[in-house]
Amino acid sequence: MEYERILNTIETEVFNKPYLGKVASYIPELAKIDSKKFGMHLYCSNSGHYSFGDSEERFSIQSISKVFGLTMAMSELGDELFNRVDVEPSGDPFNSLVQLECENGIPRNPFINAGALVICDILISKLKNPKKEFLDFIHQITETNTITINKRVFTSEKTHSHRNAALLNLMKSFGNIKNDIETVLDFYTYQCAIEMSCKELSTAFMIYANSGKQLSNNQQILSSRAVKRINAIMQTCGFYDEAGEFSFRVGLPGKSGVGGGIVAIHPGQYSVSVWSPPLNPKGNSELGMYALERLTTLTGLSIF
Ligand code: GLU
Repeated sequence: MEYERILNTIETEVFNKPYLGKVASYIPELAKIDSKKFGMHLYCSNSGHYSFGDSEERFSIQSISKVFGLTMAMSELGDELFNRVDVEPSGDPFNSLVQLECENGIPRNPFINAGALVICDILISKLKNPKKEFLDFIHQITETNTITINKRVFTSEKTHSHRNAALLNLMKSFGNIKNDIETVLDFYTYQCAIEMSCKELSTAFMIYANSGKQLSNNQQILSSRAVKRINAIMQTCGFYDEAGEFSFRVGLPGKSGVGGGIVAIHPGQYSVSVWSPPLNPKGNSELGMYALERLTTLTGLSIF
């Protein structure tokens, strides 16, 4: 596949498109990011790395971290995990409280905030040093040890996390949060504040495109059964209440974050990341989605 030529075409197209959408401002520190940033990085399992733009600049991964949390929790708890969090698309905004009340404190899936908060609660119960072990896992799958959090983003979200605190309180009232609310909120906010570049995200997500193995050293990080399940949840729940639209336009499993990042994978072929901070009304990167739609159109390859 001529990825270099295709990425060149996408580069020309995105730089000629108007910057629609709005940079997230409900976490005030995120609103300070230059809205014109754009990076794209594709990591092909046969032919290596292709990129353009700001693909090596780190940004706030936000909800993309939920995939790493789910991966670790599945290794720690196995199938029991799914007694505490379901795997159905929510069709509601990522931080909605409504469904949770009707469904007795069991979140619809691990990628809405409520689900990720339950995953954090599980990891706190299981791990000795959750923050360190979370970062260690990312260091392992990216093969770099410099990835860390942005402390300003962490503090900014922490002082504006009333809604996540409400989700935690509601779930605790149903018995689905075992640890102290402040501890869970702290760990959740910490993982959302991690910064990675498109190149690092594509490298990390290669395990989901490569049957659970790291491409560089063939090390099995998770089972192919776990990969199948995580990819299925990315496909059906990875884009807030726009998962259907993303499947329709792009046709790959993936995950977005309100920092403007999107990562997607094509099993057996590649992992790809884009970063463009302005978000559409559903919270997904406007130009990022466009770039990925063009990728699967120009290559003629999606999982469908
Ligand atoms: N830290 C963000 C929040 O809890 C993550 C949202 C996202 O990226 O979807 O609101």
